[in-house]
Amino acid sequence: MPRPIQATVSLEALRHNLARSRTAGGGARVWAVVKANAYGHGVERAFPALRAADGFALLDLAEAETLRALGWGGPILLLEGCFGLEDLATCERLNLWHVVHDAAQIHWLASRRKPRAHRVFLKLNSGMNRLGFTPEQYRVAWQRLQELPAVGAVSHMTHFATADGEPGVADALERFESAVDGLPGERSLCNSAALLRYGVQAQGRPGRHDDAAAVLGDWVRPGIALYGGSPTGAHADATRWELRPAMSLLTRIIGVQTVEAGGVVGYGATFRAERPMRIGVAAVGYADGYPRHAPSGTPIVVDGVRTRIVGRVSMDMVMVDLDPVRAAGRAADVGSPVLCWGRHLDAELGIDEVAEPSGTLGYELMCALARRVPVQVV
Ligand SMILES: *Cc1c(COP(=O)(O)O)cnc(C)c1O
Repeated sequence: MPRPIQATVSLEALRHNLARSRTAGGGARVWAVVKANAYGHGVERAFPALRAADGFALLDLAEAETLRALGWGGPILLLEGCFGLEDLATCERLNLWHVVHDAAQIHWLASRRKPRAHRVFLKLNSGMNRLGFTPEQYRVAWQRLQELPAVGAVSHMTHFATADGEPGVADALERFESAVDGLPGERSLCNSAALLRYGVQAQGRPGRHDDAAAVLGDWVRPGIALYGGSPTGAHADATRWELRPAMSLLTRIIGVQTVEAGGVVGYGATFRAERPMRIGVAAVGYADGYPRHAPSGTPIVVDGVRTRIVGRVSMDMVMVDLDPVRAAGRAADVGSPVLCWGRHLDAELGIDEVAEPSGTLGYELMCALARRVPVQVV
């Protein structure tokens, strides 16, 4: 029998979250962001559900190649653009749209000859100081692109630094509006946080921003929302925004210990039992992608009952408190099913509920799902 760990990817959840994102976008077209192998879900696995999007956005040219091989003929956008001159030939071959965020990329484009072969998104640095032209450089860059024979339509984009919290997007939006003022071209601004916060709310309630149409633009770019994680890191937001978990991580109890009061559990003896306890050993560890920094008390579900992990997470195992499971009348023994995050039968445990005490985000846990974990599409 194989080690009893398994991840599942729910196409139904992906479809639901994409539809939810589309509604939030209020008519804007939707880039399904599938970078990092669809946030760990697998581009090939997610594709049948996400092909209802208007385009796919990613970074890696190999992933773009995968989408074309799957038969996707629609738009694909390279979010970091080309990494070198030779990538422009790949863009022409695969018909990829690409972001232009640096003068070097314009320089490379200047050497291409095929008329209007390149559909680009010019990126404004609206305050995050990661990728993009400053507001002062933006119009000059736009003008240069207009003059290049190999460049076709030029769209405008920016990425928000604080869409998921305070102070929100008002300043960045103002910088964007003034940089693109009077220029033709489509616009794209929203990641999941901006889309869900400022877009059309669930049940058709209006968005929170006075100027929702300006924030939403022509294309929105949800990533984490498609996978049912919270862009803010707070699980309550994922619930409030009616997102469903696309990834579940399941395993089983493979051993049981009875620990006396005062007994310790795991490497470093970081957990001490205050009373006699039944401890289960679940077959999941950091080599599967379970966060090593998850402290004692991090929630986990055994046999449908919410309990907690105890002691340090090891490479292949994590110890869990079986007493609440027993108290709920379940067997809590070798073979009992364990839900690390996601949804199984009637139980749901948000990936962000595990990420938060571990000092990280659902994003990181999804992307870190290890190759050794078999994945089943459901
Ligand atoms: C990753 C990424 C997104 C999606 O972000 P989420 O927070 O996952 O919605 C959107 N735009 C750009 C430029 C990105 O790099």
